[in-house]
Amino acid sequence: MSRAVVFPRTVRQALTRTGGYLAGYSHSLQPYVGCEFSCVYCYVRALPVQRANPYGRAWSEWISPKTNVAERLAAQGRRGTIAGARIFCASSTDPYVPLERKLGLTRACLDVFAAFAPERLVIQTRSPLVLRDVERLKRISHCGVSFTVPTNDDVVRRRFEPDSPAIGRRIETLRALREAGVPTQAAVAPVLPGDARALAERLEPVVDRVVVDDLVSGDGAHGARSHEIRARLRADGDGFWAESGAAAEVAITFRSVFGDERVGLSEAGFNDLETWPN
Ligand code: SF4
Repeated sequence: MSRAVVFPRTVRQALTRTGGYLAGYSHSLQPYVGCEFSCVYCYVRALPVQRANPYGRAWSEWISPKTNVAERLAAQGRRGTIAGARIFCASSTDPYVPLERKLGLTRACLDVFAAFAPERLVIQTRSPLVLRDVERLKRISHCGVSFTVPTNDDVVRRRFEPDSPAIGRRIETLRALREAGVPTQAAVAPVLPGDARALAERLEPVVDRVVVDDLVSGDGAHGARSHEIRARLRADGDGFWAESGAAAEVAITFRSVFGDERVGLSEAGFNDLETWPN
């Protein structure tokens, strides 16, 4: 159940230039500011979007939908900004937060992309709500869904992602997307305690590719933004998952199940757009 108070806003631009960790992309698209999911490892808590939020509320207790985002996206499409763009949606929210069911802002953006095709569009989510838009996703060329599945263990999932869907629902969502012909990626990021081989074997039939990352290389600050959660993992006896190199070790297990070509690692893996099916 979402605890987020809604603060609508309007924006001048929908697409913003990106870089850094997402160096393979030219733009990001965030239909919402803030997030209704409350992942305890979320590095966005440490960014100005949360630290300087004008609402005075904790992360995941506010959300600000960009009510005119599709209109502004269409304007950018008419100006030629979308053609040739490699777009990641989204890096600091989830485009399928529960509020999306009512507002349909991401859905409206997909309709814009059907008219103004980008070079590549990757939808990054953890929500089965994405299935509502499967026909729209199929209409956009070079479009795929990256789905967060950081563990095989729902006890761990409840510990780190208390408001996020169960692992089984995520696997079934990936299966439905793939069966519909939508290219799929599992983002095992940040990799959390669990049985990596069991997770790889569950994911292999339902995704085209996997990318694995850990708390150190994935938070954009060499682990500094994940300092508290890493300390908690160590205190709980799960220190392996707190350290640099966890993703590389888990990727070895995934490659033994998927083969080398379908498994990406950390920043390079996230930005390797060439291995996505078209
Ligand atoms: S879904 Fe993404 S943006 Fe939202 S709380 Fe979780 S990690 Fe942060």
